[in-house]
Amino acid sequence: MIKGGKPGRLTLEAAKSVLRGVGMRCTAARIAVIQALEAAESPMTPGSVVDFLCEYGFDKSTIYRSLTELNEAGLVVRLDLGDAVRRFELLPLENDGAPEHPHFMCVDCGKVVCMSGFDVELKGRSRKARSPGIMSEILVRGHCHDCAT
Ligand SMILES: [Zn+2]
Ligand SMILES: [Zn+2]
Repeated sequence: MIKGGKPGRLTLEAAKSVLRGVGMRCTAARIAVIQALEAAESPMTPGSVVDFLCEYGFDKSTIYRSLTELNEAGLVVRLDLGDAVRRFELLPLENDGAPEHPHFMCVDCGKVVCMSGFDVELKGRSRKARSPGIMSEILVRGHCHDCAT
């Protein structure tokens, strides 16, 4: 479906089996959206998915609908990073529903980057330390390399 790219990219067959795994029909748009999200190094906005796939002839509403469907099926998570921007990312297979890595947001340019390969563990310092709830997202804020210089 999507030509070229880096090795390790999700194959057509793999994308199909992901969809079949949750009982969804393998439409071209869903497959393309999964492949686009998988190829991205950062969470994607619906607009950036549309831009990424524009040469394949899907219309905007089809892509938006596919994102929503994949989100509802639990394959794609919608990140809530506290700003008004919707960002989606593909969940790793065999996941409990939360991205397994923290995210970095630049307070200057608003760029959000996956901190793949990082673990953040919050440990209570005392017995009184109680978790305020179920954590769904760890967000680190700072200045990206471009903005820090
Ligand atoms: Zn920045
Ligand atoms: Zn991420």
